[in-house]
Amino acid sequence: MLLAHQIRLDPNNVQRTYFARAAGTARFAYNWALAEWGRQYAASKADPTLKPPNEAALRRQLNSIKREQFPWMLDVTKCAPQLAIMQLGRAFENFLARRARYPTFRRKGIDDRFAISNDQSEVDGHRIRIPKLGWVRMREALRFTGHIVSASFSRKADHWYVSITVDCPDPPLPPAENQGVVGMDLGITHLATLSTGETLDGPKALRLLLGSVRRLSRALARKVKGSRNRAKAKLRLARLHERIAHIRRNGLHQLTTNLTRRFHTIGIEDLNVSGMLRNHRLARAIADMGFGELRRQLQYKAERRGGQIVVVDRWCPSSKTCSGCGYVFAMLALHQRRWTCPGCGVSHDRDVNAAMNLKNVAASSAVIACGGDGAGLARKCEAKPAPAKQESNSKVNYD
Ligand SMILES: [Zn+2]
Repeated sequence: MLLAHQIRLDPNNVQRTYFARAAGTARFAYNWALAEWGRQYAASKADPTLKPPNEAALRRQLNSIKREQFPWMLDVTKCAPQLAIMQLGRAFENFLARRARYPTFRRKGIDDRFAISNDQSEVDGHRIRIPKLGWVRMREALRFTGHIVSASFSRKADHWYVSITVDCPDPPLPPAENQGVVGMDLGITHLATLSTGETLDGPKALRLLLGSVRRLSRALARKVKGSRNRAKAKLRLARLHERIAHIRRNGLHQLTTNLTRRFHTIGIEDLNVSGMLRNHRLARAIADMGFGELRRQLQYKAERRGGQIVVVDRWCPSSKTCSGCGYVFAMLALHQRRWTCPGCGVSHDRDVNAAMNLKNVAASSAVIACGGDGAGLARKCEAKPAPAKQESNSKVNYD
């Protein structure tokens, strides 16, 4: 399976300059191809003898003109413009499949990234080789062994990172300790409540550092546009956001590793995260927890151990159904943390009861799934090759 490892780089000043130029070249090529795509598409509509645009043709077109028109492109790796246009091709694929909006132009300072293909990069311990530059120090060695598929470089605040996608041979990890089923209810007071009654808390990084975010945001707003002090304030805020993202990601990794190491089958609820984020009262708490990322990590980590994640339909009334007798308590309000089942008289903790229901659905669907038939309420999410980063999942041959 494809796994990506993101590593912070320690570039010197020459290497920093190279990264900025390569990112600039990638951005230019992307924006050039996007504008050209729109122009060629309109032309093909007006004149049916012309072909509609495609990324391979655009790459050939850029290659044929770059020596005369954009000679500065030759200063950095040829992958920077080429892979950027391939990424544009995927952006259009996603747009046409209605998975994404129409691609937008990349902006300097926001989309500073470029990628190199597998035959152009080489990793050796704590360093990575980049064409036309040489070896760049990495903060740690690559964690996965296997064939390197691609490497993409990106800037966050003023730090550069490389994300190396590796094709890991299966099955690399021992199976979970417990071959049973667990249900996990995701919530606001606790990140996760397990059907065992255990509660797990996420990293509430944003909540802890929110005061600092507000302070630095106000400081930035007071600075004169275009001033040197504004640039410094902007960098301080960007570094804080980067730190918050790291704390959040670390906490989630610990949680998902812990769960997938312990349980074979994990039942979770299919939360409509973007729908929930539209509810502003819940938004910050949910964004702070990172539900979507939690689910993504659970899925690929379970897959590495031969486990499975059962995603239970979001309309399944997991909180309102009694896990003992199946009575549906329709009157249950959102603020009620405990309730007593009118059917069997058992007193329930809201979250633990929901987790028990998710466990029951996961257990039944796992059994049914073995018979080759999907369960009504749940769909299995396994054996889906889930690359950690979408843009790294690419075939890397081009002309
Ligand atoms: Zn009951």
